[in-house]
Amino acid sequence: MNLNIKDTFNKELPHDLNRQNSRRQVLNACFSYVIPRLPSSPTLVHASDEVMKEIGLDEKDENSEDFLSVFSGKKLLEGTDPYAMCYGGHQFGNWAGQLGDGRAINLGEVVNGAKRWALQLKGAGATPYSRSADGLAVLRSSVREHLCSEAMFHLGVPTTRSLSLMLTGDKVLRDVLYDGNSAYEKGAVVCRVAPSFIRFGNFQILAARKDMASLKKLADHTIRHFFPHLKEGTKNGYVDFFREVTNRSLDMVVHWQRVGFVHGVMNTDNMSILGLTIDYGPYGWLEGYDAGWTPNTTDGQGKRYQFGNQPGVVMWNLAQLGSAIAPLINEIEPLEAVLKDFKEKYVAAYTKMMGQKLGLEVRSGSNAALIQELEAVLPVTEVDMTIFFRNLAKFSKEGHTDDGTAFLSPIIDAFYQPEDLKGEVLEAWREWFAKYFNRLNEDGISDEERRVAMDQVNPKYVFRNYMAQMAIEKADNNDFSLVDELYLLLKQPYGEQPDQQKWFAKRPEWARHKVGCSMLSCSS
Ligand code: AMP
Ligand code: MG
Repeated sequence: MNLNIKDTFNKELPHDLNRQNSRRQVLNACFSYVIPRLPSSPTLVHASDEVMKEIGLDEKDENSEDFLSVFSGKKLLEGTDPYAMCYGGHQFGNWAGQLGDGRAINLGEVVNGAKRWALQLKGAGATPYSRSADGLAVLRSSVREHLCSEAMFHLGVPTTRSLSLMLTGDKVLRDVLYDGNSAYEKGAVVCRVAPSFIRFGNFQILAARKDMASLKKLADHTIRHFFPHLKEGTKNGYVDFFREVTNRSLDMVVHWQRVGFVHGVMNTDNMSILGLTIDYGPYGWLEGYDAGWTPNTTDGQGKRYQFGNQPGVVMWNLAQLGSAIAPLINEIEPLEAVLKDFKEKYVAAYTKMMGQKLGLEVRSGSNAALIQELEAVLPVTEVDMTIFFRNLAKFSKEGHTDDGTAFLSPIIDAFYQPEDLKGEVLEAWREWFAKYFNRLNEDGISDEERRVAMDQVNPKYVFRNYMAQMAIEKADNNDFSLVDELYLLLKQPYGEQPDQQKWFAKRPEWARHKVGCSMLSCSS
């Protein structure tokens, strides 16, 4: 196995002088050196062929002893000096102080072609940042992270990737619902891959500690490697950097709203400085369209991270990042000016995206009204978001709203209770479709053209929680066939894949209130 190791983070930034793996506050440093824990008998569950290629590996590496050893944490890659990052964060709106990579260990960075990739094991043991936890991960959450990272990438959503999923052979104790019923689960390790895993929280912790020297080094390092067109070390450079992080984060959340992804734990330590979706925990996908939905039971009360709040939370998180880097600029106004535009920019980007989902020509004003009216009628009775938008492409300009429910036939499968389609509910839909058909007739787009364009933004297949749960239950019995099947399915979320039609279906009723399907916690 041949990887072109070219570390920068641990070469350019201040390290913790203490090399002991003890839990502590780490001051005046961006990271601590730490080596992964020895897994007792690692086995490979799945590897992403695409990520292997991205980092410069060959197909045949997948079954090598080296691959198994390195990406389970059993053996160190030559020329690397693994480390855990120090970061802080706001959790559910409150400053939580030092958090850090409590169960993530960065193996190092590889350069392949023009791209730089950081490789990070998640679940490979405790670090100085583990606080009271064990540094481990279970198969359940690791299947979810591995498959969802790749599914999101193929949906066109900015995200960290996942190279591999391994069982460690060790048992891990978890209390899934935090109700005192702990049980042993299979331990697993995922190898995540991204240009960088730097988070908003990496900046925040240094600012909170008034460690300006390290803060400046971290900002300059980030600009140097990931925003090389900007000027490190200058006031304008930092403001431009903040603007770019803002634009990228905005782009990311517009994609989330497009595909119905709910992150679940948008704490500032879970916000990538590169605008990538990071930390797949108690995330979920909208099934019934409901802006108030969150999959995370830990957030069940305040519902801070519900679907409809995600854009506002991104903005709030950006404000925290702005406060953290403000000392580098010595003033807050230029950063505030960047944030001031966020709302307006978001509305414009969201309206454009939704217009594409509806197959409309871009028009100022008129699209926004039609979109808002749709958002008002969608939650009236439970409508599956993915099926609704995918099948909307099947309507033709000649569509008309008749007296019965026949006009709904292309999307009838999206309704969880089609029997609700009567009275006011039916009238609301009739009214909306009358306007929609009018609009289609005003636009100069042919039915075929529109269908092709809509099928590129409205996925047919997303990684619904119950699908993940089915794959997990099989994998727990050492049957990895569904992990393989779903990985392949989700490589082409916009493709028709007629032989996979069974996955283009509403969530089955058994999954409605099942743990792991509708209820997820941070326990992983
Ligand atoms: P999360 O809510 O998963 O983003 O995690 C918040 C913080 O808790 C991060 O610093 C994680 O590294 C840490 N953490 C979560 N789970 C564990 C675990 N099992 N062992 C050690 N640290 C953990
Ligand atoms: Mg996290």
